[in-house]
Amino acid sequence: MIDSHAHLGDDKLFSNWKAILERAQMVGLNAVVDICTDVITLERGLLIQASNPPIPVFLTAATTPHDVEAEGDLFFKRVEEAVLKKQLVAIGETGLDYYYEHSPKQTQKKHLIKYFNLAKMANLPLVFHCREAFGDLFDLADLEYSNASALLHCFTGTLDEAKQVLKRGWGLSFSGIVTFKKSTQLHEVLKYAPLEKIFIETDAPYLAPQTKRGFCNEPSFILETAQFIADLKGVSLEEVAETTSRNAREFFSLALNR
Ligand SMILES: [Zn+2]
Repeated sequence: MIDSHAHLGDDKLFSNWKAILERAQMVGLNAVVDICTDVITLERGLLIQASNPPIPVFLTAATTPHDVEAEGDLFFKRVEEAVLKKQLVAIGETGLDYYYEHSPKQTQKKHLIKYFNLAKMANLPLVFHCREAFGDLFDLADLEYSNASALLHCFTGTLDEAKQVLKRGWGLSFSGIVTFKKSTQLHEVLKYAPLEKIFIETDAPYLAPQTKRGFCNEPSFILETAQFIADLKGVSLEEVAETTSRNAREFFSLALNR
């Protein structure tokens, strides 16, 4: 399996990254996509890659929509540099978050468009973060990023929003949130979406699945989410693992043997 979205550079994980990746390897993970959100976490990601990790680690980078006002311009230059050095497998997580609105909507949009252009220029896919902003995300993308590759990370939208995502050819990535009983809307989305468009992520250190709630999340916990999705869709865990891993390998163009 592949964890398609974790923050290994977060203090909670980075202090213990080797043991965390060893545990991930033990449960059968073959790669982790490490989402870098600032200068420090990108440096940490590069350091992990250079330190012979137990399983391959691939990097993406962008300022989150929360922080674009404070750090967006500063980090953008570093992301461009990382693109030129071929250090990234995607741009992200970028997008719009109107739930928290930590940065003004206009600023979030401005940076999203810059990332659209960078992704197109670099021929890299985008990892979106979107909360209560799907209308604007779809409108902007149709204008500035049509027919391009993207993935909705930690999807928590409605079935209708999921259909809009799939219509654009994008993928849906699910976190441990799907394992919560109250996530009935998400369960409908999962039943509807074809496995070929589904990705699985931990979003570690956040969003631990049901039986690990209250713990610091880590990539090895992904199996609980995968098993839940298998049960819900009435297929085997192997099929979920195999198909979602293939989806991730192809989407991120991961250089992996299998
Ligand atoms: Zn994230």
